[in-house]
Amino acid sequence: MSIKSLYLHVPFCKTICGYCDFCHFLFNEEKANNWLIALENEIKDKNINKDLETIYIGGGTPTSLNIIQLEKLLAIMEPYSKNVNEYTIEVNPETIDEDKVKLLKKYNINRVSIGVQTSDNRLLKLMNRFHDFNTVIYCVNLFKKYDINNISVDVMYGIPTQTLDDLNKTLDDVLSLDIPHISIYCLTIEPDTLFDRLNYKEVDEDLDADMYDLINNKLISNGFFQYEISNYSKKGYESKHNLTYWNYNDFYGISLSSSGKENNVRYDNTKDFNKYLNGDYIENKVILSQDDLMFEHIMMGLRKKEGINIKDFNLRYKTSLIDKYKDVIKSLINDGLIEINNEYIRCSVKGMLISNDIIVKFMI
Ligand code: SF4
Repeated sequence: MSIKSLYLHVPFCKTICGYCDFCHFLFNEEKANNWLIALENEIKDKNINKDLETIYIGGGTPTSLNIIQLEKLLAIMEPYSKNVNEYTIEVNPETIDEDKVKLLKKYNINRVSIGVQTSDNRLLKLMNRFHDFNTVIYCVNLFKKYDINNISVDVMYGIPTQTLDDLNKTLDDVLSLDIPHISIYCLTIEPDTLFDRLNYKEVDEDLDADMYDLINNKLISNGFFQYEISNYSKKGYESKHNLTYWNYNDFYGISLSSSGKENNVRYDNTKDFNKYLNGDYIENKVILSQDDLMFEHIMMGLRKKEGINIKDFNLRYKTSLIDKYKDVIKSLINDGLIEINNEYIRCSVKGMLISNDIIVKFMI
């Protein structure tokens, strides 16, 4: 089956957030122009299908590019984007203006993911983020004005010094935006980030659990449903692109630091800017065994609320999921952590809270 999804990483940001360990470089016009040349070459080399269904331009901050560069990027992608049914771009509120929104509309972008994180200006400052919540409102209204209504926002919780009340206020503010998708992640302190150097600590387990409960209750009582551990949407607004990953289907990864999967091969692109400019795109290629594929399929599929379709799994690997993992499954069912229902195997509500621990048990 041909590959239906493509992820493209734009490695530039206007400023660097205190907690971030993604591949990013401070935006520099000349560097971004050179990157665009290399990107065009990588795409030519890759021989990408023109019948893609989803494209996701992430980063970094794709909209940190200036308008000429953004148009160049969208024009490079145009042969592949014409017929996709979900075309997403990540944006940061302070990098958006009306001309950029018009441009995104012109190139058929039909979904945006906005980095909001919190509506608390004190916490935004602590995170070294340069927008405020009024800019988020302006940005959402601009997208709606141009009929880009499939809007997702990223929210973070467990931010140093954040209280339950702070989080509650952010959720109220985000809900007031009247948007159909929310991704919500607990902050982790990654090595060598500013937060790590400042010795900030991750939120303790009890507050983490209280925050998770607050999020779940509040979003569900406001018409959202949780379709993945960290993702909530209104019906019909699930991220089709991200479901590619969680359904363990193949996808292209383009540009610095992206990864892709084609059949039983996974590759990681280089994070080295100069190597990338010289056409040395791929850093690492791994051939996945049948056991690797089955394990990774379980790892991704158990993130979804609906779980893994057992029949599809059995057909794909010509192996019975239930027989292959019978001891693990039996013990997890006995502990009330997973359940089998309507041909799906999924984490229970209790299991969702410790899904990483559950997944490890399938490493046999
Ligand atoms: S904008 Fe996003 S990618 Fe850039 S530094 Fe902040 S979190 Fe990282």
